[in-house]
Amino acid sequence: MKKFDVLILGGGASGLMCASWLNQNSSLHVGIIEGNEKVAQKLKISGGGKCNITNVDVRAEHFLGDRDFIKTVLEEFSKEDLLQYLQKRGLKPVIRKKRYYFCPKSSDEIIDILKKDTSKTELILGEKVLRISKDFKVTTDSSSYETTHLVIATGAQSYKSIGASSIGLDIAKTFKHKVKQFHPALVGLTLQPAQFWMKELSGISLHVKIKVAGKEIDEEMLFAHKGISGLAVLSASLYWHKGDIEIDFMPSLHVRDAIKNTKKHISSAFRLPKRFTKLFLDSLGVEDKACNKLSKKEIEKLMLIHSYSFAPSGNFGFSKAEVSRGGVLTSEIDSKNMQSKLVKNLYFIGEVVDVTGELGGYNFQWAFSSAVVCGKNLVKFSK
Ligand SMILES: Cc1cc2nc3c(=O)[nH]c(=O)nc-3n(C[C@H](O)[C@H](O)[C@H](O)COP(=O)(O)OP(=O)(O)OC[C@H]3O[C@@H](n4cnc5c(N)ncnc54)[C@H](O)[C@@H]3O)c2cc1C
Repeated sequence: MKKFDVLILGGGASGLMCASWLNQNSSLHVGIIEGNEKVAQKLKISGGGKCNITNVDVRAEHFLGDRDFIKTVLEEFSKEDLLQYLQKRGLKPVIRKKRYYFCPKSSDEIIDILKKDTSKTELILGEKVLRISKDFKVTTDSSSYETTHLVIATGAQSYKSIGASSIGLDIAKTFKHKVKQFHPALVGLTLQPAQFWMKELSGISLHVKIKVAGKEIDEEMLFAHKGISGLAVLSASLYWHKGDIEIDFMPSLHVRDAIKNTKKHISSAFRLPKRFTKLFLDSLGVEDKACNKLSKKEIEKLMLIHSYSFAPSGNFGFSKAEVSRGGVLTSEIDSKNMQSKLVKNLYFIGEVVDVTGELGGYNFQWAFSSAVVCGKNLVKFSK
C-alpha cells in the first residue's frame, strides 16, 4: 500500500493551496486524491469563468461562523498575503465594482499557478474516496493508501455535477467530530403565492437593499423564472433560514421625493423598470395614476417599496447553490493549524469547515487562508 507523509483529500482550491505551500516549503511526500479526472473544477467555473479570488474588505463580519476562529485564520494568511503570492507568480488580479478581485482573463490563470506549484505533489485523479479507517488508511473506489497526516479538503455539497460531496462530514463523524449538516447557501430564493407576481419579471434586475437577520445587503437583485436571485439575494440567502426578509426596491430615491410636485404617473416618477412598478402597484392594489392625485392612504401603501417584507418559501437547492453552509464544527478544530482537537494529525480546511463567506471572493479567501494555516503547521514535520 502506497504511503504518504501528507495525504490531501480533494484537489480543489484549499487542497491545491495546501499542497502548494508544502511543495514550496518542505520535502514532505504529499499526495492529493481527487474524484474528478482534473483538479480545480469549481475554481474553473467560478466567477463566471474569471474567478472572484478575494475582496477589498476581508473581515470576519463577512462570514457565517465563529468570528474569533475566522479572524485568527484570516490574519495568518490575509488578502494581502494572497495577492502577494499571486503577484509573485505573475498574476495581478483586477478589481471590479470597487470591491471584487478577479482574474484579469480567466480562472485558468490561477489554476495554472496552483498546478505549477504542486508539480511535486503526487496527483491521484479520478478516484473517489469511500472511507477512512481510524489509523488513516484511505480507501478509494479503486485503491488504498496510508498516510501520517490526513487533510480533509473535500469541500461541501453544492454542484454535485462537478464532483462535490458530503464525504467530509462522514469522515469527520468517523472520528467523532460534531458537524452541522450542509444547507444550500449563496442561492436564489423561491416565493410564496403572494409574491408570484415577481416571477413575471424574469430577466429584470434592480439595485436593492435587503435586510435579513440583522444584516443589510446593498447590491443587484435579479428576478428569475423560479423566484429571485442576483448578487443581493444570493448574499441574503447565507443569513436566511426561514421567516421574513425585507427589500427596499428603490434605495436611491425616496417615495416622497419621487412623487413631490409632479403630475407624472407613478410608473414614470419611480424611475424603475415600468413593468416592475406596474406589477408592484397591482400587488398593493394601487392604481398607476398621476402622483398629484394620490390619497394619503395610497402614499402610505407606496412606502412599502422601501420595506417590502415577505417570507420566501425556500431556495433553488444544492444544484444551484454556490456554497453550502454548515460543516465540521470549529469548536473542535484548532484555528492556529486547522488540526482536529480530537485526533492528532487530522486536519480540516476549506468549505468542509463550518465557515461560509458572503458572495464576493470570501469563500476562496477562506479556502486559501485555511489551507496555508494548515500547510505552515505541516511544514514543521519536514525531515
Ligand atoms: C458556480 C460556482 C461559482 C463560485 N464562484 C466563486 C467565486 O467567484 N468566488 C469565491 O470566493 N467562491 C466561489 N464559489 C465557491 C468556491 O468555489 C468554494 O467555496 C471553494 O471552491 C471551496 O474550496 P474547497 O477546496 O473547500 O472545495 P472545492 O474547491 O469544492 O474542492 C473539493 C474537491 O474535493 C473533491 N471531492 C469531493 N468528494 C470527493 C471524494 N469522495 N473523493 C475524492 N474527491 C472528492 C471535489 O471533486 C473537489 O474537487 C463558487 C462556487 C460555485 C459552485
